[in-house]
Amino acid sequence: ATHFKIEGLRAAIEDKEILKGIDLEIKGGEIHAIMGPNGTGKSTLASALMGHPKYEVTAGTALLDGENLLEMEVDERARAGLFLAMQYPSEIPGVTNSDFLRSAINARREEGNEISLIKFIRQMESKMKELEMNTEFAHRYLNEGFSGGEKKRNEILQMMMLEPKIAILDEIDSGLDIDALKIVAAGVNSMRSEDRGFLIITHYQRLLNYITPDYVHVMMQGRIVKSGGPELAQRLEDEGYDWVKEELGIVD
Ligand code: ADP
Ligand code: MG
Ligand code: MG
Repeated sequence: ATHFKIEGLRAAIEDKEILKGIDLEIKGGEIHAIMGPNGTGKSTLASALMGHPKYEVTAGTALLDGENLLEMEVDERARAGLFLAMQYPSEIPGVTNSDFLRSAINARREEGNEISLIKFIRQMESKMKELEMNTEFAHRYLNEGFSGGEKKRNEILQMMMLEPKIAILDEIDSGLDIDALKIVAAGVNSMRSEDRGFLIITHYQRLLNYITPDYVHVMMQGRIVKSGGPELAQRLEDEGYDWVKEELGIVD
């Protein structure tokens, strides 16, 4: 089964330390949620794990099935089974959605073992149907002119097609109306498996009504300061973050 272990992760942006020692262990089958106020480093954690060049990792390890992702190139991390649904997906004019997806899938396969076009199209269309996406999105340029909600569905489509071992979903719920939220959540739930772990970054408890996490972590000022079960998310929704700060003596 999949096993992902982050230890002592520190990362900086332009010499400013944002992540100040993150420890987190995710096993296959588990869903972990990270909540926290704006600007505490949630997206930085996701980007540092993916290997975004803007973020300098200064300490720590992130072992996926025993291999340290932090020592790998970006494409190797994806091939190792890490996936990130971005908070702000980029638009890539000139590359169609389906071309992008097919090359992403083939990049993770051995040479000579590429997915056949027919099989690819069949799979993509069936996943798009599940996500209630119009199949015309296959031929549109990646994210170009997509609405916020369409971008988020498209990120989930990528996840469903790539079948990662660890999926990080960064604010996948932002900009979604309730119907779209349910569709996206159903897509995530359909992907739950013993071989796959999830890290769901969210601002709001709302998403966690549809995707039940096993663990909820609170991130503040670049650290995970508190962990618990789903009841922790509910308390944060009801009471905000001040009580956590008081409990831990955190001063802004
Ligand atoms: P969150 O996702 O929790 O809202 P972020 O990880 O996006 O927080 O940001 C953490 C901190 O890092 C913030 O102070 C933010 O301003 C800063 N930051 C994030 N990305 C950049 C960047 N590309 N350049 C400079 N500062 C950044
Ligand atoms: Mg934010
Ligand atoms: Mg963020």
